[in-house]
Amino acid sequence: MSPAMIELTMKGYRLLRVHSKPEVLMEVELEQQPESCLCCGASRLHSKGRYERRVQHLDLCGRPAWMWVHCRRYRCCECGRTFVPPLPGILPGRHSSEPLREYVYQQHHDGICASTLAWRRRLGQATIGRIYAQFTERKAKERMSLQCPTVLGIDEHSLHRKQRFATTFCDLKNRRVFDITPGKSDADLQGFLERLQGRERVRLVCIDLSSSYRALIQRWFPRAMIVADRFHVVRVVMRHLLGIARQVYPQLAWKLSWLNLLRTRGDRLSLDQRLRLREVFRQQPALQPIYEMKERLCALLCIKNRTAAECRQLIPQLIAFIHTLKSSGFDLAKTLAKTLQDWSEEIARMWRFTRNNGITEGFHRKMKLIQRRAYGFRNFNNYRLRVIAQCG
Ligand SMILES: [Zn+2]
Repeated sequence: MSPAMIELTMKGYRLLRVHSKPEVLMEVELEQQPESCLCCGASRLHSKGRYERRVQHLDLCGRPAWMWVHCRRYRCCECGRTFVPPLPGILPGRHSSEPLREYVYQQHHDGICASTLAWRRRLGQATIGRIYAQFTERKAKERMSLQCPTVLGIDEHSLHRKQRFATTFCDLKNRRVFDITPGKSDADLQGFLERLQGRERVRLVCIDLSSSYRALIQRWFPRAMIVADRFHVVRVVMRHLLGIARQVYPQLAWKLSWLNLLRTRGDRLSLDQRLRLREVFRQQPALQPIYEMKERLCALLCIKNRTAAECRQLIPQLIAFIHTLKSSGFDLAKTLAKTLQDWSEEIARMWRFTRNNGITEGFHRKMKLIQRRAYGFRNFNNYRLRVIAQCG
């Protein structure tokens, strides 16, 4: 027999002969017969007769191949039990070898859909689903015993209609999804958080401006510092200040080009845009102070990588902004001032740390694609397995 052929069978087997019509069928036997009983270890064994297994195996030169394993059933003369020696690479009750199952899993994981793969491998679609679940479940089980990462990003994402939201726990240091769990309230997450190991290891948690998540972190991750997500803070500021601009000049709602100019950061404007902005301020001078306020506030919020002492020096600037907003007389400004005040500690930490939830948001995009590829998931656990397999 050619060495390549022997290599294609699995370790622990001896190739007896190969039938190549109509399919490749490799007859093999175990290299080593058992010497002792699996139950009691006694060495006196009695053969009870032949035992055969046929399993589908990896393709041989592009043709489907099967393994035909010849072995024996044994009876122990001491304890009287009968057993079949364990077959390497073939699990009890399976009709395909583990190398083939792993190959199918990898192909499906790489994006070949279950129906195509089932047709190619002459398997059922449900079998592909089972093989995938089996391999991903192994990965997910390892996840349950894993310790919490030290830097977490927590955010919600939406699911289908019945189960509205799920919470993502993202390992921001290693850039992967740590876990996902249904719901977003404290009551929904309680069970999951109780089971979580090493919660005291978490040092930094990044969240958007959600008070329910903040309360949850303070309760469940006692040693963690909360950092606000820069993108969300800037978005809240923009939304409120542009809202004020619209109150000052209601026709702004229809002037999209003006809105775009006001939204863009000053240092990113082209020369032409700068001239147009000047024209806007000439026609509506009331918009200028709002725009300048937005520019200065966003510049303050975008500062990062500062030491604790430097952060302390920046705090009076934030407080000054909050006072200006409070005394401006606009309701929207007062709301914004309140939000900034409520979150001032978390915002101040943004100056110190660069971590943000950009990675988590990126994974949310990928999760949406996973949901769409499957035309939605009914079973949350199946969805979780997919997410852990592809983003974990
Ligand atoms: Zn025995």
